[in-house]
Amino acid sequence: MQKFRSVVLLLLFCFGLTNGEVFVTADGAAGMVSGSSFLLESDGVSCIIDAGMFMENEQIEKRNFRIAPKFLNANALVLTHAHTDHIGRVPLLAASGFNGKIYATAATKALALEFFSNGTGADLIKRKWFWYDDNANKKIAHWKDFCLKDEKPQTVLNPINFIDFQKSRKGRWEICKICILSQTAEIEKLFVELEYGQVVELAENFSFKLLDAGHIPGSASVLFNVEETRILFSGDLGSGFLKLQSKSLAAPKSDFVFIETTNGNVESVDENEFSAFRKDILNALNNSKIVWISALSFHRTQSLLYELKLMQDEGILNSNIPIYSLSPSANRITNLFEQEIVGQKRDWFAKEVYEKETLIPKNFKMQMPIFKGPMIIISSSGDMDMGMSKNLFLKLSPRKDVFMMVVNYVSPTSRAGILLANKEKFNIKKYNIFSGHPVLKEIFRWLENQDKKNTKLYLIHGELENMFSARQVFARAGFANVKILKIDERIQLR
Ligand SMILES: [Zn+2]
Ligand SMILES: [Zn+2]
Repeated sequence: MQKFRSVVLLLLFCFGLTNGEVFVTADGAAGMVSGSSFLLESDGVSCIIDAGMFMENEQIEKRNFRIAPKFLNANALVLTHAHTDHIGRVPLLAASGFNGKIYATAATKALALEFFSNGTGADLIKRKWFWYDDNANKKIAHWKDFCLKDEKPQTVLNPINFIDFQKSRKGRWEICKICILSQTAEIEKLFVELEYGQVVELAENFSFKLLDAGHIPGSASVLFNVEETRILFSGDLGSGFLKLQSKSLAAPKSDFVFIETTNGNVESVDENEFSAFRKDILNALNNSKIVWISALSFHRTQSLLYELKLMQDEGILNSNIPIYSLSPSANRITNLFEQEIVGQKRDWFAKEVYEKETLIPKNFKMQMPIFKGPMIIISSSGDMDMGMSKNLFLKLSPRKDVFMMVVNYVSPTSRAGILLANKEKFNIKKYNIFSGHPVLKEIFRWLENQDKKNTKLYLIHGELENMFSARQVFARAGFANVKILKIDERIQLR
């Protein structure tokens, strides 16, 4: 039956008698924020939008180990930007046999390859691991033949993903960096770099282009034109007041818009928080305190460094006060951003940033300090539960001479979340101005060219509760067709 159907479709296709149906399937970021991945199909042509990692609860995270067969056979993958919740399953997709092209901007490609080289997504893939017994305190698991030595290795009999492999063994394990680099080189071959606005034709009546989304370097919305129907995926959008990125333009009029609603419960943000942020830092430093800012290593840390640099340039922050950045991964990204600003100038950032010629403030240090104020310390992992922030937490909290600043979303059950819930007892404060996502006011600006009666909105990439409240707000604003997309749902657009 299946075969018969394919033959009929093929014949229809050859004679140009295709039926022009268009479908979208949600594999992630539907009813939740993470795991972003959608499939757009029409007449045997299909394109994946993002292959992100799930970062929710254990039950949902089981989806990280599989790719739906339909997605595997897609003709192309387009990446909106290089955050893990949008690219984390790309290595799994490639290792599972996906053989299409990966379309992305130059910045998204460079950043994604940086993360893949550092192992993002490598632990999700089932492999026949092998290893050699030595006395190192970390054992190295390989899978690539060129890491074989003369002696016989130990090996697992059945392919297993690294997370389960590690669980089933004693000791500390690490995936071989050389194996990971060779895998990254294979993924790199699939990439095709795109400029914003450049049209890609996947087939007759199936094309797309990228639009600057203003979220992080290289971030894009994707506008498809399939059978004369305009289908727009927002990707993650910028908040509209990120100083590193330029503001996105309002999106062109479309028939369908899949829109992110990460901050779908927030109407607006007080931009005066920038001055509160500055005042609080200066106040703490004047009292010889240690200002400890825990921030995500990618983009958030660099936005902070840039804000501190601006404060120095304006002469309000004393350039002799040391600024420590302690996370190695954050420092790698800072270097990558800095190289881009100093050297190549390929429009990763807002043009004002290039005019400054550096994003790094004066007296910037990367080594571990002696903890004595006044000083500023930036560590990664915003919630203080992982990495450097976890270690610092034990040293710095609670201390009277330490002022803690939180600059990203933190889970209420994390260390930072618990401190914030008791902020009268602890010296801690949260700021929303560094958020990389738009609040409703900004989303409405982005949607201003849409036809409220006819454009159909699908809410994605948000917590379910936030989407319920966003849906009401959209309806009140006059949007006649607003739906919340469900996970695994396949909807017909045409
Ligand atoms: Zn993002
Ligand atoms: Zn996202």
